[in-house]
Amino acid sequence: MIRKWMEKLFGGEMNLRERLLRVILSFSVITTALFVATSSFMGISKMVMLPMILVLSAAGFSLWLVYKYRKVELAAGLMGLIINGVLLPIIFFTSGGLESGAPVWFVFGIVYVYFMFSGKKLLFFLLWANSSFVITMYISYLFPTLVTKADSGNLSYISSGVAILVVGTAIGVLTKFQKGSYDKESKLAEQQRIELERMSQSKSAFFANMSHEIRTPINTIIGLNEMILREDISDEIAENAVNIQNASKMLLTLINDILDLSKLESGKMEIVPVQYETGALFSDLVNIIWVRAHEKGLEFKIDIAPNIPSMLYGDEVRIKQVLTNILTNAVKYTEKGSVTLSAKGERIGNNKVLLRISVEDTGIGIKKESVKELFSSFRRVDEEKNRNIEGTGLGLSISKQLIEMMGGEISVDSIYMKGSVFTITVEQRIVDYVPVGSMDFMVKRRGFQREKYKQSFEAPEVKVLIVDDNEMNLMVARKLLRATKVQVDTAGSGRECLERTREKAYHVIFMDHMMPELDGEETLQQLKQQENGHCQDVPVIALTANVMTGAEKIYRDKGFSGYLAKPINGALLEATLLKYIPKELIEYSAEEEEREKAGETIKLISQSGKKKNRYYNGLCVRSAGSMAETV
Ligand code: ADP
Repeated sequence: MIRKWMEKLFGGEMNLRERLLRVILSFSVITTALFVATSSFMGISKMVMLPMILVLSAAGFSLWLVYKYRKVELAAGLMGLIINGVLLPIIFFTSGGLESGAPVWFVFGIVYVYFMFSGKKLLFFLLWANSSFVITMYISYLFPTLVTKADSGNLSYISSGVAILVVGTAIGVLTKFQKGSYDKESKLAEQQRIELERMSQSKSAFFANMSHEIRTPINTIIGLNEMILREDISDEIAENAVNIQNASKMLLTLINDILDLSKLESGKMEIVPVQYETGALFSDLVNIIWVRAHEKGLEFKIDIAPNIPSMLYGDEVRIKQVLTNILTNAVKYTEKGSVTLSAKGERIGNNKVLLRISVEDTGIGIKKESVKELFSSFRRVDEEKNRNIEGTGLGLSISKQLIEMMGGEISVDSIYMKGSVFTITVEQRIVDYVPVGSMDFMVKRRGFQREKYKQSFEAPEVKVLIVDDNEMNLMVARKLLRATKVQVDTAGSGRECLERTREKAYHVIFMDHMMPELDGEETLQQLKQQENGHCQDVPVIALTANVMTGAEKIYRDKGFSGYLAKPINGALLEATLLKYIPKELIEYSAEEEEREKAGETIKLISQSGKKKNRYYNGLCVRSAGSMAETV
């Protein structure tokens, strides 16, 4: 029965405040009812009883308001007004003033206000309760005769005792109740947090799996498409194949973006600093963007301050990712004119430099009111104008988060219809103080316009094993190596790989990282300790879909000789293989042939005297001073 009542009164959906009010009101009703009952039994004066009956009625009425009509605000306010403004002064004057338990009841009135109200209402009711107490005291001081004196000593003891007991218990119960509710809420919040974390983890796992799953068919598309492009095909088929290539790359970028975003959201994105060559960073960027700019008939200008140190320490991959995104946008959103990449370095203290890299375009620009939306995920601005330009609105959001993780900043300055300047500033540690010098980008157009594919080497005696759990990946890799005439065996699992290496010696093994059962790492460990195996010391190259900064070092630390990113690029596959096979087994080398033709190699020369030869696949640009031009 009691349980049923309790359930009715306190069970069900309600917020903490309503529950608290119901407790206070029920407590007031029960205690005052008990007091009135015992007082009449003990024959206590009506003057003491009367206010108690009033409290009982007001509390009962308010409880009814809350229970029946859920008028929490009204009931709480009503009680606040009546208790503090009317009942407590009456109790004070009728039960013996300061000599009774009345002051203690005032304490209860004030505590009630603190429990029930907040903000402006709290201020109002506090003012109300405190002024009521002060005025009551003042009147009783001015007109002591108004206070009914306790006619027997016992009464003031009883009155004070009851007040202290009741108010003390009430405050105790309230505090306990509030603490209980707080504990319950914290437990709930903790459960919710765990649940959210679990959800976010499964979301990240889903994205990681999905991206892996999608990458595999894209790998097949890109690989087989490359095989088509290598053939002697008509211009129309070649054009179609190039379009398939571009579309696949676009899809790949999208998947990478989604994966990055999910990593950033789940806090799993890490900044991995490594030593890197500043010249190589800019030269890679130029190589990526130059073609796109020239395809659109845009001028691509480069202005890189020669005093930037030549070797820095930072997350090169992420800086490149951000700059590639900004540069790609500049080309995407510019119809005519130019795109300028400029960089400056400002020394900070002894061993740091503040890189300030800007990308300026003469494109469509961004409206002032849209600038604040630029860096939000999935937000594209000025959609009407951009409808025909491919994009997801993820790039800048990812870029901003990445740059901020590196302690840097990204900003934009744009005039609508005139152009934009995106600037990133990021601090990097200096590894080599020698200035990068004025860079001379010499880029040769190769592979951009259709050109007949030629394998970089031939080595028919070389034996290669490719391990991947995906049939298609194996087929693509096998086909990509066909022209080199190397002998290719394949294994569909780590176990199969170990069987093969027990039987046969290979010169190089390409090993997928993510495989069911034995993954690439485990297979490698077993391979190195394989008794009667033929490949304990053979170079093993990891094939990985998730390329992170410092991947080279990470894979080397795990015992691999290097790594190759998926989707496998045919030229890179050949170049990697060439690095690890015995030179005496190479029967033909296009590279050597090429080196002989002076001037056709791609060089990155810094005027500081350092001379580095870099060999790229694809195109190159020669820049005279700061202006890039086609060779
Ligand atoms: P998207 O994939 O749409 O290019 P981004 O996050 O890279 O996504 O950019 C968000 C939006 O910012 C773009 O949709 C475009 O409206 C605007 N934007 C970015 N760069 C430029 C630029 N250089 N000039 C004009 N608008 C730009």
